[in-house]
Amino acid sequence: MESPCRARFGDSERPESMSKPPNINDLSPAPTSQLTPYEFHELQTFEEAIERGLKHFAAVGYALREIRDKRLYRAAYTNFEDYIEARWQMHVSQAKQFIVAAEVEEEVTLKTATNGSQNPAAESETPIPNERVARALASAAPKGERAGVWQEAVKTAPVVHGKKKVTAAHVKETASKARTQERQSGKMLDKVGRAITHDHVAVAFNASGDFSSLMHELSALKGRFKSLMEGPAGHYATRHRQEWDAGISNLHSIVRFSAPYAVCPYCGGERNCDSCKRSGWMPEEIYKAVPRDIRGEQ
Ligand SMILES: [Zn+2]
Repeated sequence: MESPCRARFGDSERPESMSKPPNINDLSPAPTSQLTPYEFHELQTFEEAIERGLKHFAAVGYALREIRDKRLYRAAYTNFEDYIEARWQMHVSQAKQFIVAAEVEEEVTLKTATNGSQNPAAESETPIPNERVARALASAAPKGERAGVWQEAVKTAPVVHGKKKVTAAHVKETASKARTQERQSGKMLDKVGRAITHDHVAVAFNASGDFSSLMHELSALKGRFKSLMEGPAGHYATRHRQEWDAGISNLHSIVRFSAPYAVCPYCGGERNCDSCKRSGWMPEEIYKAVPRDIRGEQ
């Protein structure tokens, strides 16, 4: 099978002189005539085929995830990266995007199935149309909030040719509006500005002041030793200045990286995942190591 241009030339490898493939819109003349009934029927048939194809992103993502997690590639390849590149002429980051998109689709579908009775409106049944929109949803909202953002996006999407048209841009805008509303509603927020919706997470964040005060105490301790060094009996203390500073700095880091920082972006505070050690929240150090796609930050 001929590999597509994108697979042969990564964006970084594409020679400067090589222009991008022409946009189809640039080639087609401005609409000047009506379609004949036959042409209209043809257009519909082709567009349905495209829609069906685009919808398969979730199936592709699930399949890739299973192959990766069960290491089904292992008879012929040493790792998932090699398998993806050799077997599918795809970069592993693209495979991961498919997997993220499939997981988003899964989350939205499961949530709407559970809430089905509460949301009988048609928007709860509108599927995510393609991978691009699914990825936009992944990066615009954290796990646990995506189904809500999706339903709101469908509800407020413009209708084009009798169908709701939910674009990636509209999904991002919807998520950003939801966040602004949360901020204005005076709800309790974590350090990255996300609403805390679970009581056990709120209890942890209520205790975060204790971590801050311990950090202040440590800074004060640092200062007290400095006074000793500069005082009349500072002769030997001065020789330990560096150790003391390093020790305090270590303790400071321990406290800082133990304090509640963000609601767990994997379980949304549900406490049912290992990423947050089933606490529903994460300290700063662990949160910052979570891939951007999953953190759901703008
Ligand atoms: Zn979690």
